[in-house]
Amino acid sequence: MRFIDFHTHHASMAGETVIRQHEQSWGIHPKDAATAQWQPRPEGCMAIGECGLDHLCGVPARVQEELFRRHVSLSEEAGLPLIVHCVRAHEEILGLHRRLRPRQPWMVHGFRGKPSVMSRLLDEGMYISFGLLFNEESVRACPAERLLTETDDRPVAVDKVYAAIAAARGTTVAELAACMERNFACLYGNRGI
Ligand SMILES: [Zn+2]
Repeated sequence: MRFIDFHTHHASMAGETVIRQHEQSWGIHPKDAATAQWQPRPEGCMAIGECGLDHLCGVPARVQEELFRRHVSLSEEAGLPLIVHCVRAHEEILGLHRRLRPRQPWMVHGFRGKPSVMSRLLDEGMYISFGLLFNEESVRACPAERLLTETDDRPVAVDKVYAAIAAARGTTVAELAACMERNFACLYGNRGI
C-alpha cells in the first residue's frame, strides 16, 4: 500500500508518492504575489499551484487575483489540475470558478472549513484536500471521490493524515488508501509517478 500526499513541501519518504511544491507542482503562493517572478514550470510538473487568494496575507486583493487568473490560464493551456490556496476567500474563488468555467479540476488544499462552505465548492466540481487539522464534520461529509490527503508544510508523515482522516470517517486506512489511488488516477491519469 502506498500513501499519496497530494500537496507537500517535503520530499517523499519510503512508501509515499508526493506532489511536491516546486517539483511536481509549480505556482506562486498568494503571499508572494507582489514579489515572486513568473518562471517556466519544472520538467515533469503535474499540477499548477499552489496559487490562490489569501485575505490574511497582506498583498492587495487585485494583485492576488490577477496572478491567480494567470495560473488558471496556465492550468487550462497545459492541461494540468490546479492546487488552490484559499484563506477567507471562498466567495471569490467560487465566483471565479463560475465565471472562468475551467476544464481542469481545482483542488482546494488545506481545507479546514465547515460543511456548508465545502458543499458549495463540491457543487462547483472541486476536490477538497485535507491535512492534519480539519473540521471533522467536513471530513465525514466529503464524498470519497473528491477527498484528497496532504501534509502541506507540516513536519508530519502523510500516513498520520491517513490515520486521522480514516478515524474521522469511520473507515480503515486501507480503504482510504484505495480511494486515494482512484482519485490520483482520475486527476493524473497515467502521468503517474
Ligand atoms: Zn503549501
